Amino acid sequence: MSDNDEKKRHATGGCLCGGIRFEIYQPLRPVVVCHCKQCRQTAGYFNGFTVTLPENLVFINDDTLTWYESSEEAKRGFCNKCGSSIFWTYKSGGNMGVAPGSLDEPTGLRTAMHIFTEFAGDYYEITDGLPERPGQRHPDDILEPG
Ligand SMILES: [Zn+2]
Ligand SMILES: [Zn+2]
Repeated sequence: MSDNDEKKRHATGGCLCGGIRFEIYQPLRPVVVCHCKQCRQTAGYFNGFTVTLPENLVFINDDTLTWYESSEEAKRGFCNKCGSSIFWTYKSGGNMGVAPGSLDEPTGLRTAMHIFTEFAGDYYEITDGLPERPGQRHPDDILEPG
């Protein structure tokens, strides 16, 4: 990444009520759709994430941001007022997954692939022809989908 990329604001976003607002200062990875049960439960259908390094995400407002430890390794960030589910990251740090629905448009993003499709819900079919991986490490581990 060049110095130029680091300084440029590439995305803005937040939750439904505005209690969480943030800016992202790096180009975002394409969206990876995750069909695991935890993603489906927290998002309500299935979920997808783009990724940023946490140091390139700047909070304008995080008044209503709450973290839920969803597994031994991971935690999910959501708004405790409006319920928007936005972030996923390892408790130990590393890449921060950001739900693309939280971003202001145009996002310029595209969806690249599906993971954990072996855990997909029985209430939909995956029909977009994108690559599918039955299992996979969580979306935030995948910097370059393919
Ligand atoms: Zn909110
Ligand atoms: Zn998932």
